[in-house]
Amino acid sequence: MNTWEELKAACMDCRKCGLCETRTNLVFGTGNEKAEVLFIGEGPGENEDLQGEPFVGRGGQLLDKFLDAVDLDRKKNIYIANMVKCRPPKNRDPLPEEQDACIGWLREQVRLMHPKIIVCLGRISAQKLIDEDFKVTKQHGEFFEKKGVIMMGTFHPAALLRNPRQKPEAFEDFLKLQEKIKEVCSNTY
Ligand code: SF4
Repeated sequence: MNTWEELKAACMDCRKCGLCETRTNLVFGTGNEKAEVLFIGEGPGENEDLQGEPFVGRGGQLLDKFLDAVDLDRKKNIYIANMVKCRPPKNRDPLPEEQDACIGWLREQVRLMHPKIIVCLGRISAQKLIDEDFKVTKQHGEFFEKKGVIMMGTFHPAALLRNPRQKPEAFEDFLKLQEKIKEVCSNTY
């Protein structure tokens, strides 16, 4: 697939894993597909499944606050996607086989986007994309480079709602991200 539209159209019909049976909407992603910064979460929750957009519940509102504080906006200068594009029932973690079935779509998104920075929101994406032993509480806010792309893991917004004491640490990560964007990106700010 050579264009974003072709990729999205193909993905929207996907039945590669069992999560297609229970989804209301497939959540392809949202934002500017020409952005230099890509955020990757875990999978759609109930609100996301109903609306077809990632991070739209309370976690999404918190994410938008952090983004706004560092001049990032899902409608303008970033893109947000998930490890799996259909909701795991009862918000359980996506199974390894579901992640393996779905990751090809994400790889294609990355291939077409060429992001300079990828931010993993939470353990699931950080362990899949940065390091299988990634510990969010210890390694959040650190930058790694893989295949020419700068990567960082930070807390998942839903985890911050469960544990608000970690919000200041998460905010520090966004400030570090802002500095890194100024350093390596030319079209984000
Ligand atoms: S989760 Fe991914 S692989 Fe599974 S059906 Fe949805 S889009 Fe396809």
